[in-house]
Amino acid sequence: MTLHAPYDPDNIFARILRGEIPSVKVWEDDHVLAFMDVFPQSEGHVLIVSRTSSARTLLDVEPDVLARLTAATQRTARAVVKALRPDGFQIMQFNGEAGGQTVFHLHFHIVPRWADRPLKGHGHAPMAEPATLRGLADRIAAAIE
Ligand code: AMP
Repeated sequence: MTLHAPYDPDNIFARILRGEIPSVKVWEDDHVLAFMDVFPQSEGHVLIVSRTSSARTLLDVEPDVLARLTAATQRTARAVVKALRPDGFQIMQFNGEAGGQTVFHLHFHIVPRWADRPLKGHGHAPMAEPATLRGLADRIAAAIE
């Protein structure tokens, strides 16, 4: 997928947003959805997507949508840190197949990091159990302010 292909309305995150396939939600409002990555690179890996935009990458996104996404990413990262007490965290955002992107609906990754735990590979991490993700999502959601 190049940086400039058209938006595919049947990409997996669009289908999650339409409720066609399940996700483990952390929180949502009319503009954004925060949900657990099913192939987490670390415990508590959360994804943030826009409900309203058809942006594939950072290049396409409307400035007001980007502002909402970054605010939602900060809000969720604060909750992740409060709930899970990592030593640090990473915000990741991949653009284009050559840039590591695998789902072409713009999103931000929040990846908590612990000093003694290695990061699992992007696109190579094992699938997590839904119950484990639900437990983490509930803890993070309880810390949302
Ligand atoms: P990217 O490679 O930046 O496009 O990130 C896509 C992310 O979506 C990866 O970290 C995948 O593990 C994650 N992912 C793929 N399918 C699902 C799904 N059905 N539910 C939640 N996360 C997913």
